[in-house]
Amino acid sequence: MSDKPVFKKILIANRGEIACRIIKTANIMGIATVAVYSDADRNALHVKMADEAIHIGSSPSNESYLVIDKIIQAALTTGAEAIHPGYGFLSENAEFCNQCKAHNLVFIGPPVEAILAMGSKSSAKNIMGNANVPLVPGYHGDDQNPAVLKKAADDMGYPVLLKAAAGGGGKGMRTVMHADEFDQALAAAKREALNGFNNDIMLVEKYLLGPRHVEIQVFCDQHNNGVYLFERDCSVQRRHQKVIEEAPAPGMTEDLRQRMGEAAIRAAKAIHYEGAGTVEFLLDTQGEFFFMEMNTRLQVEHPVTEMISGQDLVEWQLRVASGEPLPCPQDQLHIHGHAFEARIYAEDPDQDFLPATGTLSQLQTPRENTHLRIDSGVIQGDQVSVYYDPMIAKLIVWDTDRAAALKRLTEALSDYRIKGLTTNISFLYNIATSQAFRSGAIDTGFIEQHKDEIFHQRSDDIKYAAPIAAQAILHARQQRAKALAAGSSEPNSPWHLANSWQANSSAKPILHIKIGTQELKVEVDSAESNPAVKVAADEESFNLFTDRGVFHCSEAKPDLGLQDNYADGNLTAPMNGTVVTLLVESGTPVSKGETLMVIEAMKMEHAIIAPANGTVTEFFYQPGELVDDGAELLAFAELEETV
Ligand code: ADP
Repeated sequence: MSDKPVFKKILIANRGEIACRIIKTANIMGIATVAVYSDADRNALHVKMADEAIHIGSSPSNESYLVIDKIIQAALTTGAEAIHPGYGFLSENAEFCNQCKAHNLVFIGPPVEAILAMGSKSSAKNIMGNANVPLVPGYHGDDQNPAVLKKAADDMGYPVLLKAAAGGGGKGMRTVMHADEFDQALAAAKREALNGFNNDIMLVEKYLLGPRHVEIQVFCDQHNNGVYLFERDCSVQRRHQKVIEEAPAPGMTEDLRQRMGEAAIRAAKAIHYEGAGTVEFLLDTQGEFFFMEMNTRLQVEHPVTEMISGQDLVEWQLRVASGEPLPCPQDQLHIHGHAFEARIYAEDPDQDFLPATGTLSQLQTPRENTHLRIDSGVIQGDQVSVYYDPMIAKLIVWDTDRAAALKRLTEALSDYRIKGLTTNISFLYNIATSQAFRSGAIDTGFIEQHKDEIFHQRSDDIKYAAPIAAQAILHARQQRAKALAAGSSEPNSPWHLANSWQANSSAKPILHIKIGTQELKVEVDSAESNPAVKVAADEESFNLFTDRGVFHCSEAKPDLGLQDNYADGNLTAPMNGTVVTLLVESGTPVSKGETLMVIEAMKMEHAIIAPANGTVTEFFYQPGELVDDGAELLAFAELEETV
């Protein structure tokens, strides 16, 4: 490869992580970059990273990132020679591709004819059928009469999948299990397709049961060369959208890889492809594969291919778009090790993956190295807004084999700390630590099939987590006590021991713990707490990362209302009752909000909460003793802040 820059300056018609990722390669290659941005992205990372940036409109993407004229104008004004569209937005837009050409700008992607050919899933299937690429059985004809579609479904037998020809991102799809559901499903899929893509042409496909999504990365140049950079397994999906991708595919044989790779090259050659493309296949349980669609752009999950092949696919795109031949022939491409990508989203998996918005008040990531890569377009303090995709980052790991790479993935996920909005990190971690995922037994029904394990509704798992959570709470107390003691006048006093040392009672503290929505009482066995698991803690609650998934835990505080009873340094009983347990030692420093003792009255437990940082100087009652309404329970000394 020559050292001469392939372009002097390019414009990136995108935002977020993919814009940042393209800028990184351009920088390495000595190519100047122009970013474009909307109002919402005024201070975005991609704007800071680029050499120049042009404002292209207000926040909604149809007023900025999707406006062809504004982007072309920005390229002309800044003297960019070429435009990289990233993925999404205008990356598969034929009109944009034409406009680039009309203004003498290189579109870093395939020729417009290839985009048009693959733009419709029906025409794509026609072309691929003719090129001898195996297809998912189904109807992809022009006659859209509902009766014709229904007959096609009846003839192939149920279940079938209705798919919008212009669809993407899992929209406009409906599974039909029985003939009598067909009409309603067709109407719903058509509505969604019309809304999303302004086109309601439908395909009917045989709905394969338990298939895997295995896609092939292809690359072609302007000199009739084409190679495949192996496969990615993207079977782990929610609502037909990818969640964790990996390369190579678990269980892939050399023979099948070669047959799929060659079919993908046939597909690309059939449309005179240039640049990076992905041919998506479904692989059935018998090892037969069927063409689904071809994406004529760089994919979100391209980093796993980069990790196992050692190639920079954006560099390949830039070289090929400038007219250079492919950097490398097929026989020089090899697979090294195994890679995973997990998509970290601002969303709530417990609420059907509802997108979340907000400010990333804390964003602490694992450290990048040769085994770990993070592609992200946001930094701490940034907003995740309603305007764009709520992806926060792509976490990519690599190691010499699948098991080692998976260990790196779970480690890295447990090192991520994000505050300010809900994320899917626990969900990803639960998938990655599940037995089935570890064994590589994945298919597109994986999440549905393993939802108990992934969403933690199993009581045996909660029983497993409870003692570990209790240990973690004690450990945190010890840490807090140490921190307080370090600041006190008598740092070596035995009163600063926050373990289970107690003057007149048994040495086993009982903790009230909340795990998920369940509350439990846990007797802690060991005085010395030393949890062997990772804990991501804030003041109120913490995530416990174990080898059976993540557990969201907190110390149960049954009645915070008791705080109101705090007056003049003493705390009083809310009603007649019995002391259940003392949770701290008198003399031991405690933090504001910590539960000091628990009282039972009217069959309900009430927590007595520390009103401030300080110490209980004396408990006036012991467990089992009766207390009267209004009785002073303990004496509390507030910690005096040293100036
Ligand atoms: P989109 O373009 O909306 O992403 P795809 O055609 O790529 O739609 O399909 C998305 C996912 O839907 C696939 O990865 C697979 O999980 C599932 N799927 C698609 N077609 C079939 C089929 N015929 N049988 C079973 N599952 C399918």
